[in-house]
Amino acid sequence: MSDVVATAQAAFQDAYGSEPAGLWAAPGRVNLIGEHTDYNDGFVLPFALPQRTVAAAAPATGGQWSVCSTLVPEPVTFGITEPGEVTGWGAYVAGVVWALHDAGFDVPPARIAIASDVPLGSGLSSSAALESAVLTALADLGGLDLPVEKRPALAQRAENLYVGAPTGILDQSASIRCQRGRALFLDCRTYQVEQIPFDLAAEGLAILVINSNAPHQHVDGEYGARRKSCEAAAAALGVAALRDVGVDELPAALERLDDDVMRKRTRHIVTENQRVLDTVTLLRSGRTREIGPLLTASHTSMRDDFEITVAQVDVAVQAALAAGAYGARMTGGGFGGCVLALVDADRAEATAAAVAEAYAEHSFTAPTSWVAVAGPGATRL
Ligand code: ADP
Ligand code: MG
Repeated sequence: MSDVVATAQAAFQDAYGSEPAGLWAAPGRVNLIGEHTDYNDGFVLPFALPQRTVAAAAPATGGQWSVCSTLVPEPVTFGITEPGEVTGWGAYVAGVVWALHDAGFDVPPARIAIASDVPLGSGLSSSAALESAVLTALADLGGLDLPVEKRPALAQRAENLYVGAPTGILDQSASIRCQRGRALFLDCRTYQVEQIPFDLAAEGLAILVINSNAPHQHVDGEYGARRKSCEAAAAALGVAALRDVGVDELPAALERLDDDVMRKRTRHIVTENQRVLDTVTLLRSGRTREIGPLLTASHTSMRDDFEITVAQVDVAVQAALAAGAYGARMTGGGFGGCVLALVDADRAEATAAAVAEAYAEHSFTAPTSWVAVAGPGATRL
């Protein structure tokens, strides 16, 4: 049993004095490419991390839910609530109960204990891992008739409407729908997916994930501002979402926008959607090394047009490229978080060392790096 599974089980016993009925796990994710495209009805390409959040759970009586975490051992207890009633970390769990209830499901009252090895607040989506683990546990415990393709939108409602974070469908889709050894090509308008083979070790390649360990700044406000700009640009262009603007139509679209910020945001989304499509085309034909320049172009676009990077992630990308990476980019919503670099597997350690050295030169807090292999999505253990 992995550490985090044993830890969740022990946390359940400590909090409730009995054994859980079962254990459910949902992973964090890395988005290979396609940033901020999800809420523009566009394309994303995440894969699941081996790091995951485990929910140990059992049915409860009395119409209430209790949840504790190794990080917050004192259980939070609530009934059916409305958004705003449970605050703090418990809101992610109360939000899932609320979203299921609001969708007409008979949600089974439960006791839940959470343990996780997904780094929190690092852009690897510990929030969606938490929601997805809880949602999967409750769906199983209650025998809910809830097909997997409908689950991400419910977890997203918990995060948007209960927690109040205006995120798109990427994180919950990745945590719930990703598969081992695959990247998830998701159309965020139709929720159609294609599982793209993504076994880098077989090709002598690796994705190095570098946590910048930079403090997150202004994340929610800046995220919301980007979302508003994109929606305003779509409205000005007379389309439902920026996904409806193709790259060949971009020059004409930019001419029609009279605001420079809106033009930059639009250019990022439209070119980023095309980069996802181009990446998928290359991966489908086994030309994995060739996705490198697309990753790097994505970073440049996030830095210059979407303006969501910080010095630490820019330095990590530059250092990884200088150390010979095929491509590198920030992954996740931005303003800190992680960078990924596509490298020859035998260069992963040297690339991590080069980034650490660059951080030392800049007097940044040291980064944390590891090779990420595509793991499974949410499941009962
Ligand atoms: P990210 O999703 O990038 O990790 P967020 O700010 O969206 O960052 O979500 C992090 C929040 O999710 C934490 O502040 C906490 O409230 C909640 N959370 C995630 N995992 C856990 C956990 N294992 N225990 C308690 N709270 C958690
Ligand atoms: Mg999150």
